[in-house]
Amino acid sequence: MLQHTDSYYAATAISARDWGSLTESLRCDVCVIGGGFTGLSAALHLAERDFDVVLLEAERIGWGASGRNGGQLGSGQRKDQAWLEEHLGVAVARQLWDLAEEAKQIVRDRIARHGIDCDLKSGILHAGHNPAAAEYFAQAADYLRQNYQYDQIRPVDKTEIGDMLGTDRYFGGNLDVGAGHLHPLNYALGLARAAAAAGVRLFEGSRVSGYDRRDPTTLRTATASVTANFVVLACNGYLESLERRVAGRIMPINNFVLATEPLGSARAKLLIRDDVAVADSKFVIDYYRLSADRRLLFGGGENYTRQFPRDLKKFVRRYMLKVYPELADVEIDFAWGGTLAVTLRRLPHFGRLEPNVYFAQGFSGHGVALTSLAGKLIAEAVAGTAERFDIFANLPCPAFPGGTLLRWPGLVLGMFYYALRDRL
Ligand SMILES: Cc1cc2nc3c(=O)[nH]c(=O)nc-3n(C[C@H](O)[C@H](O)[C@H](O)COP(=O)(O)OP(=O)(O)OC[C@H]3O[C@@H](n4cnc5c(N)ncnc54)[C@H](O)[C@@H]3O)c2cc1C
Repeated sequence: MLQHTDSYYAATAISARDWGSLTESLRCDVCVIGGGFTGLSAALHLAERDFDVVLLEAERIGWGASGRNGGQLGSGQRKDQAWLEEHLGVAVARQLWDLAEEAKQIVRDRIARHGIDCDLKSGILHAGHNPAAAEYFAQAADYLRQNYQYDQIRPVDKTEIGDMLGTDRYFGGNLDVGAGHLHPLNYALGLARAAAAAGVRLFEGSRVSGYDRRDPTTLRTATASVTANFVVLACNGYLESLERRVAGRIMPINNFVLATEPLGSARAKLLIRDDVAVADSKFVIDYYRLSADRRLLFGGGENYTRQFPRDLKKFVRRYMLKVYPELADVEIDFAWGGTLAVTLRRLPHFGRLEPNVYFAQGFSGHGVALTSLAGKLIAEAVAGTAERFDIFANLPCPAFPGGTLLRWPGLVLGMFYYALRDRL
């Protein structure tokens, strides 16, 4: 079993406990595969509906993207509302907006109800790295205010964003105070504790190697098996070859984050005056925020291979210094990477593989809020009311050209092309 990656989050994890691995064969109503936000949320919502739930995690709870990400609790979907309206129709776009609002609320409610200590704060500032992007963000804010009655977002001009971020790099943007940021690993660990308290049996170091297509189905690990009436597949970017029927619809990509040494309140405030999270407009996004102990947590850079860059501190620091060259003297205490799953159209991919096998994946870098919603919708569907799950299941999700085996070359070329445009 692999331990948590050496991250700021793992170093500041609260009450991480050892859940033990599966050693005996079990019977349950629902077996959840994957102990990230999606699996944990599904397990918790199912247990609250009186299902008998077993959750199997290959490594540690929150070991995947859920314990490593930028912590940005974003509004809406990865695609903006105007795009969704144009491609899916106004009615579906509105349903997706309302569900995404519910997603943020689920996270807030879980944190409050279970007393999860995960440094939740308000605000995401979207920063335009060129005039067109700044204009786009301003228009997107106006669009939400006018057409969705969402008054928690407002445009921010060049002068104001410069004052907020201590840099003249950006041309304007928008501030969404209905969005927020949190310590993702502590949120995941808190969900796990809540799930256990609700009756879920959680196991770590218990990789599922396969399951049959019967009803009930039997899932195998190296040492034991679980027989379940329903399966929830929640492996996202770490799915690998477990389920070839959905693997070709997602592309695993790697993204990287660093944590500086603590900067002290005064210096930290010069970087991010109002303690909001920041996400810029480049294709390979720079995203950053302050930790509770006043470090800069900076995400930047991606790659599309199975290997992470060898010197991650150096790799991400380059991105950070482009925004804040004044941090050249600052120590980098941690740098780490994680793998997320993107879909071709950057819409999440939900569905059923058999009448009793549900999955949700491909949150495309926008999963902190939507995964908690995914778990709730899966629980509704397993309990027999699938209308809301099916709003997502009906979204188009084309396979990557080349399928599971050959999807890499085309995507990598495309990604490099857009990443190159960022630099031009
Ligand atoms: C560096 C980085 C930064 C990001 N920043 C943000 C952000 O700021 N905001 C945002 O909204 N989103 C962000 N994301 C995306 C977000 O983290 C994901 O959308 C979300 O965490 C997905 O959760 P999940 O539970 O579906 O998958 P994961 O958290 O990846 O969990 C999947 C789990 O399944 C387990 N697993 C896989 N195969 C098996 C098996 N066979 N048997 C048992 N277990 C198995 C894995 O070990 C893993 O723990 C980021 C992602 C990364 C990597």
